[in-house]
Amino acid sequence: MSEKKAVFFCSASSDIDPKYNQAAREAVRAACLAGYSIVSGGSFRGTMGVVCDTARECGAPNCGVLPEFMKGLEYDGLTELRWARSMSERKDMMREGVSLAVALPGGIGTMDELFETMVLVKLGRMKATLAVLDVDGFYEPLRALLDHFVEHGMLTPEDRALLHFAATPEELEKLF
Ligand code: AMP
Repeated sequence: MSEKKAVFFCSASSDIDPKYNQAAREAVRAACLAGYSIVSGGSFRGTMGVVCDTARECGAPNCGVLPEFMKGLEYDGLTELRWARSMSERKDMMREGVSLAVALPGGIGTMDELFETMVLVKLGRMKATLAVLDVDGFYEPLRALLDHFVEHGMLTPEDRALLHFAATPEELEKLF
């Protein structure tokens, strides 16, 4: 049987409101209960550490992918630790075999991972459900930006619709 895999893109920062990590915990727990194995950036830092903690607590396969230059930042307790030669290769490796890609609240690294993945899905280079966890409207500026792109003909409504906005972990679960 092929494994169901979900990748979570998320913040490396520890200096964020705890509500974002609480929502991350609930979203990852729901994914584990739904039978997904979890892939992340694999660091103990920020929300990545929370994602790894949650997958471990749930007993789910828990794969972390880090670039070699981040040696020492890996989460202790991954079931699979993979090293990439570059940040680009890391993104490719994180996406391997996933059918679900979720951006939890994050910053530029998270956006880089999300946008590249959305482009690949748009171009038919991969097939996956894409979502952001829009905790307390965190991703409203992103929604406005995408709508702006559509309004100005830079993005088709069909491609815009590739990205789901889930306000809560329960809404996210409906996409599993
Ligand atoms: P950010 O959203 O800017 O906090 O970036 C977090 C995302 O980008 C994670 O999913 C990581 O894959 C990657 N990343 C960026 N900065 C770091 C870092 N200092 N340590 C580990 N991963 C990072």
